[in-house]
Amino acid sequence: MYELRPYQQEAVDNTLNFFRKKRSPAVIVLPTGAGKSLVIAELAKIAKGRVLVLAHVKELVEQNHLKYESYDLQAGIYSAGLNQKDSKRKVIFGSIQSVANASDSFFNDFTLLVIDECHRVGLEPDSQYAKVIKRLKLNNKRICILGLTATPYRMGLGWIYNIAHQGEMKTQELRFFKHCIYELPLEYMIKNKYLTPPVKVDIPVTSYDFSELIEGGKSYTMAQLEEVLKQQRRLTPLIIKNIVDITDSYKRQGVMIFSSTVKHAQEVMESLPKGQAQLILGETEATERDRIINAFKERAFKYLVNVSVLTTGFDAAHVDVIAILRPTESISLYQQIIGRGLRLDTGKKDCLVLDYTGMGHNIYAPEIGDKKTAPESVPVEVPCPECGFVNDFWGIVDDDGYVVEHFGRKCRGAIQKPETYEFNPCGYRFRFKICDQCSAENDITARECCRCGYTLIDPDTKLKQAKLSLNAHVLTPDSIEMLERSDKNGNPYLQVKYYDYDARYVSEMHYLNNQTSLKKFNINFLRSHTRKPELNLSIRSVGEIIKIQPQLRMPSFVIARKQGKFWKITEKIFAEEL
Ligand SMILES: [Zn+2]
Ligand SMILES: [Zn+2]
Repeated sequence: MYELRPYQQEAVDNTLNFFRKKRSPAVIVLPTGAGKSLVIAELAKIAKGRVLVLAHVKELVEQNHLKYESYDLQAGIYSAGLNQKDSKRKVIFGSIQSVANASDSFFNDFTLLVIDECHRVGLEPDSQYAKVIKRLKLNNKRICILGLTATPYRMGLGWIYNIAHQGEMKTQELRFFKHCIYELPLEYMIKNKYLTPPVKVDIPVTSYDFSELIEGGKSYTMAQLEEVLKQQRRLTPLIIKNIVDITDSYKRQGVMIFSSTVKHAQEVMESLPKGQAQLILGETEATERDRIINAFKERAFKYLVNVSVLTTGFDAAHVDVIAILRPTESISLYQQIIGRGLRLDTGKKDCLVLDYTGMGHNIYAPEIGDKKTAPESVPVEVPCPECGFVNDFWGIVDDDGYVVEHFGRKCRGAIQKPETYEFNPCGYRFRFKICDQCSAENDITARECCRCGYTLIDPDTKLKQAKLSLNAHVLTPDSIEMLERSDKNGNPYLQVKYYDYDARYVSEMHYLNNQTSLKKFNINFLRSHTRKPELNLSIRSVGEIIKIQPQLRMPSFVIARKQGKFWKITEKIFAEEL
């Protein structure tokens, strides 16, 4: 039999607790190597009714089934590709394609559906998953649906669920899975020595430039990829020499090279030491593939080159160098590739990651959701002043690691009642746009007011109009100067001058000498200029504001309009609005 690791037990307990209270589809996130098959086994064992475990490829069906039976448990397989169609046993491991074509009687008596690699399940009503789920529900409308994945996000979609297990709102858009009920970070697996640490090496001599292929998250064709590589052909021998040098000088045992196209893989092979490298392509025959993989596992050769065939389900524990020579447009693909090198093995201390794509994903901090706003941005933690939830945002840190600015807009924290999974988002806005009509706070990108429906003019349009108007001037500030001045009655005021590159400037003035003027100053200046808007800065004089000038930021554009003889600043547009 088997024994669950503590975190596997926790995942099982959370699943039971959740389905006792709710029947919406839920997700468990376990990194590769966390032993998800044990979690499946335990759940299948406890389940009162029948259990269907679905995967999208026959290799995964077979692998999950094998693991299951290795615990002295019995289960059937339903997969045309594996030549087995067992529909009688309590637990069935099936491939989605075969199950989608099964007859009605197949779907009887299931109480639990487990979907492996569940980030592939979307909301498309005519997908195979949707059809299978519909038929299962016809037989049992209270069936529990549990998804498992190591990478709970998908390109172009972002997070695949709404609510994280720690009570964080990941997205408000409609998702198939509502709750994530358990999540184990990769760091945990590494810290507790269940996996080998990946070490990203920053020395690659040169990198390919794939940026034109993946700009703005668009997809590309093999022909486009081939074309981009053709222009950069001369880089391949340099890159391969670098891989070989590193492998030799760090005495590495097994190197996996992920190349872009078949042609590219052949070029890679030409530069690798003869007799030390083998190539696996999509078209490589199964027996030949097995022979190569076995020889690699026995360390008969060092370099295993492949074109997107070994990204999932392949494991050779001794792999201690991963070289990425193909665009990794999605973070899940990147994580899967690196996952190939993280298995434990005797004498293995770490796995070197050589990334020649110039794309630089971070394996620990997936860049999901918000786009990076500035090139120097790094992930930072920002506590919410309302609910205390620590948000992960993009931000800028100083040399001491202190957060000087962040680009978060809305708190993702929430209060979730453990008894009912009832969910109340905090909703605090760090940055917002105030409606001219009703003063409601709106998201920066909102097109109309969330309270009164009034159309909010988008900053791009504002800019375009101002640039065309003779009575408006658009200035791109390059520096900002803050001065203490006095009017003719001797009252002090703050003058703010925005200079452009050619030292032309526009300026504005703010009084800070009574409660009303302070309030105005807060709304019209401080709120949008502070780098960390959640800090409630209490400013009482011109001197005080000048003193904290480093904590203030510049707008991207300042629009001034002619009023009589003078130019008056009427709008300021900040980076996050564009
Ligand atoms: Zn909050
Ligand atoms: Zn409004």
